[in-house]
Amino acid sequence: MNGMRAMVLDRPGTPLRVADLPDPTPGPGQIRLRVRACAVCRTDLHIVDGELPDPKLPLVLGHQVVGEVVDGGSRFKRGERVGVPWLGFTDQTCRYCLSGRENLCLHAQFTGYQRDGGYAELMVADEQYCFPIPAGFDDATAAPLLCAGLIGFRSLRLAGDAERLGLYGFGSSAHIIAQVARYQGRRVFAFTRPGDTAGQQFARELGAEWAGDSDQKPPEELDAAIIFAPVGPLVPVALRVLARGGTVVCAGIHMSDIPSFPYAWLWEERSIRSVANLTRQDGQEFLELAPKVPIRTYPEVLPLTEANEALRRLRAGELHGTAVLQVASPAATKSAGTDRQSVVS
Ligand SMILES: [Zn+2]
Ligand SMILES: [Zn+2]
Repeated sequence: MNGMRAMVLDRPGTPLRVADLPDPTPGPGQIRLRVRACAVCRTDLHIVDGELPDPKLPLVLGHQVVGEVVDGGSRFKRGERVGVPWLGFTDQTCRYCLSGRENLCLHAQFTGYQRDGGYAELMVADEQYCFPIPAGFDDATAAPLLCAGLIGFRSLRLAGDAERLGLYGFGSSAHIIAQVARYQGRRVFAFTRPGDTAGQQFARELGAEWAGDSDQKPPEELDAAIIFAPVGPLVPVALRVLARGGTVVCAGIHMSDIPSFPYAWLWEERSIRSVANLTRQDGQEFLELAPKVPIRTYPEVLPLTEANEALRRLRAGELHGTAVLQVASPAATKSAGTDRQSVVS
């Protein structure tokens, strides 16, 4: 046990702390990974803010992890690059697992929430829930695919065959999903915080045919809207721009309260739904699709120890792509251990 550096949440409402922890040990069916990059997700912020109940504490956050296999398991070769997503474990026995809905598993465990995640030099993960990383993506550009991309992809699927698609909150997920939607031949309408002209310009560069403020009406009715921003009042706003039969998909794990609204706004078979977690099939399909689009992500890379700054930038809306913690570069992993010996708790 050499010890490894990690960023640790001791309790919600406090900043992450730089810590030296014992190397995690893989159990049966688990692999140990040397983390190369871990993207920061809004869910991490919700956990830090105490908006999600009962996290493991102390906790290592991070569920968009690209790492290389050190040891353990039998599915991956040593040195192989794998991704670890939010879904870390399911029981495969509950009614949801048995009906192809493991994302709703009654006993699911989630990476960087109930299990330690990737804001660390090493982590362990159940190998059956990991994905091979497609070639052509370096570590930092692959990491945002693992939640921003993946949950966004599931949200897009739940939007049905909507041709005119609205995206509310043009951040990490939306900038990926706009590219997928365009690839699928859909028309994209992007909504940002009022006055975020830079965000609107970014959306147009990624193929949105219209971009405007979230309180603006698009030039025509939309068939679906995905809300990525954790802002409940956007739900009735989005409902008001939908055509008959349209769907509002709430993509986040947490949202502020949704204000009441007249039933007439929901009438004509409009619907509102949430998206919870992912299935492994979502992950496989999305990661096969990513190189075909090909999806571009826009990582803003920071060192592991700058995790608090990464969270601050996300909270402040200062990111256009995704904050990614670069933990080890491929070259550095070869000699890993040398500088860890100088880390003293
Ligand atoms: Zn289950
Ligand atoms: Zn996430």
